[in-house]
Amino acid sequence: MSKLAIHGGKPAKTKPFPAWPIFDERERQALNEVLESRVWWRTPGTKTLAFEREFAAFHQAKHGIAVTNGTHALEVALAALGIGAGDEVIVPNATFVATASAVLFAGALPVLVDVSADSFCIDPELAEAAITAHTKAIIPVHMGGRPADLDHLTALAEKHGIALLEDSAHAHGSEWRGRKVGAFGIGGTFSFQASKTMTAGEGGMIISNDVDFERLARSAHDCGRMPGEWFYSHFIYGSNYRLSEWQGAVLLAQLTRLDEQTARRHANGRLLDRTLGAIPGITPQSHDSRITRNGQYAYIFHYDKRAFAGVETDRFVAALEAEGIPTQAPYPPLHQLDLFTSGAYRGRLSGAQAEARHDFLADIFPNSQREAWETVWITQNALLGDEEDMMEIAAAISKIRERARDLL
Ligand SMILES: *Cc1c(COP(=O)(O)O)cnc(C)c1O
Repeated sequence: MSKLAIHGGKPAKTKPFPAWPIFDERERQALNEVLESRVWWRTPGTKTLAFEREFAAFHQAKHGIAVTNGTHALEVALAALGIGAGDEVIVPNATFVATASAVLFAGALPVLVDVSADSFCIDPELAEAAITAHTKAIIPVHMGGRPADLDHLTALAEKHGIALLEDSAHAHGSEWRGRKVGAFGIGGTFSFQASKTMTAGEGGMIISNDVDFERLARSAHDCGRMPGEWFYSHFIYGSNYRLSEWQGAVLLAQLTRLDEQTARRHANGRLLDRTLGAIPGITPQSHDSRITRNGQYAYIFHYDKRAFAGVETDRFVAALEAEGIPTQAPYPPLHQLDLFTSGAYRGRLSGAQAEARHDFLADIFPNSQREAWETVWITQNALLGDEEDMMEIAAAISKIRERARDLL
């Protein structure tokens, strides 16, 4: 077996993975149409409107509201739910900060709950145990594109009369029992930031089947206006979260590829489950037979250093990158962010809630720690490769395992 690439050996992967983002004449033409139409603004435009309709329909939802980004999608959704001071919202401790910061933006308390050890999605039993009289909503994250347990979560939300809002920023096109994610509860949010599985650099979306929620979210995203009313009438508190026509045009083009791309990522993900799962020390994020498609924002696996001569995760990742396999950093646990450890988050709270002890912040969150420090995330563009590319990922990991001692 040849020398590790990190030590100057030949990388295991020589053929590059598909570059991201992917675009062609469709994006070029759509952007040109916007340019020449001189309608660059969402309000009189047609592109963002068409994108809302097509994206919602693709996800089997009635309504779509395009917004500036995925963080804003969460903020607007929470505003439409009327969540504010004194309320609590349950979120997983292993996620991007936006899932929790959007709750703080609303003036409510994000209650952090650990994830499951094998799925890295919110643990529904711990979520149920965290429900109090103040709980208004739960925001699961479909981690890496893998849907959280939507059977359990929809039942839990119904039983306790709380809103289920799916943070689907990783899960464009993911399916649970043959149905696309995002509208199992009151609604769901998506992101079109550059790393996501369809992108316009930035962008976001809220989908829903609920007509009242849709009305309020649409109004909140457009300065409190109501459709059909005079331009300078403002009915509720809102802000400007509108998505431009440029982004709507690009996203309409991106959407034409989503089905084929998610099918490919899903198939390659299951191939990696088999090939990487056979390597000692590697445990793929758990699949579930109810997941009929995983949009695979990333391919996530647990790394057990004991099977790699005790080599730490970050050293393994550096070696993997050197072999030509692209990775992205897992999320650090939210409760360890300065935002929470410094107490800065309290600045968003008010009344008794601002002064209260938030005991959950003293928890250990073992599975969030496991996610943060013991998982490896292969970027989604790698999963757009072919079968040979997947075999080369497996070969790179096997090579590192065989020469793991060289990394000590
Ligand atoms: C990307 C992301 C967001 C926020 O989306 P932006 O468009 O970057 O604001 C929210 N939640 C999760 C889980 C994300 O990965």
